[in-house]
Amino acid sequence: MARIQGIGASGGVAAGRAWVASTRPSPGMLRRVPPERAGEEIGRLERAIGAAAAELEAIRQAAGDRLGPGHLYILDLGRLLLKDEMLIGEARRRIREEGLNAEWAVQAAVDHFARFFEALEDPYFRDRRLDIGHAGERILSHLAEGPRGNAGREPEEPAILVARDLTPADVAALSGGKILGFVTDLGGQTSHTAIMAQALGIPAVVGAGDASRRVSTGDRLLVDGRAGVVLLNPSAEEEEAYAAGLRPRREAPEEGRSPIPRPAVTRDGARVAILANIVNDQELDLLPLSGMDGVGLYRSEQLYFNRRDFPSEEEHYAGYLRLARATRPMAAIIRTLDLGGDRGFPPALRLGQPEEREPNPTLGVRGIRFSLERPDIFKRQLRAILRASAEGDLALMYPMVSSLEEVREAQALLEEAKAELREEGRPFNGAIRQGIMVETPAAALCADRLARHLDFFAVGTNDLTQYTLAVDRSNKGVADRYEPLHPAVLRLLHGVARAARSAGIPAIICGELAGDPKSALYLVGLGFRSLSMALAKAPAVRRAICRSELAQMEELAAAMLECESAREIRALTSGSRHGAGRGRAGARPAV
Ligand code: PEP
Ligand code: MG
Repeated sequence: MARIQGIGASGGVAAGRAWVASTRPSPGMLRRVPPERAGEEIGRLERAIGAAAAELEAIRQAAGDRLGPGHLYILDLGRLLLKDEMLIGEARRRIREEGLNAEWAVQAAVDHFARFFEALEDPYFRDRRLDIGHAGERILSHLAEGPRGNAGREPEEPAILVARDLTPADVAALSGGKILGFVTDLGGQTSHTAIMAQALGIPAVVGAGDASRRVSTGDRLLVDGRAGVVLLNPSAEEEEAYAAGLRPRREAPEEGRSPIPRPAVTRDGARVAILANIVNDQELDLLPLSGMDGVGLYRSEQLYFNRRDFPSEEEHYAGYLRLARATRPMAAIIRTLDLGGDRGFPPALRLGQPEEREPNPTLGVRGIRFSLERPDIFKRQLRAILRASAEGDLALMYPMVSSLEEVREAQALLEEAKAELREEGRPFNGAIRQGIMVETPAAALCADRLARHLDFFAVGTNDLTQYTLAVDRSNKGVADRYEPLHPAVLRLLHGVARAARSAGIPAIICGELAGDPKSALYLVGLGFRSLSMALAKAPAVRRAICRSELAQMEELAAAMLECESAREIRALTSGSRHGAGRGRAGARPAV
């Protein structure tokens, strides 16, 4: 038996025979195209794109019933990428200007944008390179003249699919019941392929190295989609021994199929708002279906990506208007630009930046610091948000705040923007709510003072962990020290919850921690009643909350605050399915 370790992408265990998907045809011969044939070559490209779009549409139609509207958007994203001017325009340009054939031009365009996404620090944005790669592969497969690979086709008998990579559309096409689970060499936890597998309830392991070369069709496989483990040709005893070790966590697959409770209310009646973190406008179409209670974090950086110039005020406005309309009557919180640091600046914003690289960008000109240095750029965004606030309940949030002066300066610029709009006779919500991301220890420790000047807090646990522990969240070398359950982080969270409560303002958690069902329980126990997360994370968090009692969560949080180390805290959070702490029975509420 061999054991392959990958990344657990979709929970549950499957065992069966392997069906190894043959890889798609390679891009084929790379040829030069003389200028007089460029038009013809672009025509070939357009036909392949048309065929790829038709193929995706057919898969979408067939998958509609099985997948449900909540995840069809991933297939729609695939179709949108096929129309995307950035990607397709780049391929056309390379045919016309560089004399590349269509295959080569598509590959070059994909590589170009994949490199851009690869360099991003945020794992969600980074995984979008996979979506671009998938769109490119689909076009290439329609440009190829030979037979197409079998990826996307069902095996004859139920089997575990093993492939180098699968596109979300492949997964949707394969969901007819013959696929017991799948294993791919590539992919990450936040890839859309993984999200699709979760939606379909298929156990899946991604990022499994060279699994597709090590496994042959017909091999016996056991796939543990939670632990990311693949057993290759285990004996019956080995399989049994592994399954025996899993027994305590066995309820996961059925859980995936039970209805998702909405709204999130604990067994003893406490309501928790489940909000959406939006990083991509396409997700807005899902809001009405997803049962979210609003948008807790709209990352406005997306408006700056994929372009070579600055978004105009009108472009900002169009984005926020769409957000306001998609979210109303619920509220949406727009985070003003949070670029800089190790996230860097897209080419347009590098203009006007100091030539030399900052010695320590994570502690450099990031978030609100950049906005205050460039009031011209900031005001454009503030004006657009204000204008859109006439159409829906929008709120404003400033990122990376570390002092009251920054808040005051931002608020003064907001007042200037309001005065301008008044002068111009444009409508806006004069009482628009303003909050800050609490993501520096300085903001967390001064939360009681800052609260007097603000309408809400949103705690960014990703950065709060980074800055509290002095551990770069993007540095693999210190990844094992990045510990959101560290007692220091917990104490800061506790303080923020208390400060918000005594000031009478809401406090939201919008870092990754909120989307983890176990952590969500202690966050509620600490006093946070709004959790904001990626859409795909919401069902599991809702289930966890609805299964638990507030009193138990408060007990858990109180017990955690007594702990001396992250290890002790972790042991407590995994100690009970319902989140009841093993601490003192009947302990007083933590906040
Ligand atoms: C955070 O820091 O927790 C957060 C939500 O913001 P980002 O991950 O975009 O920095
Ligand atoms: Mg942050």
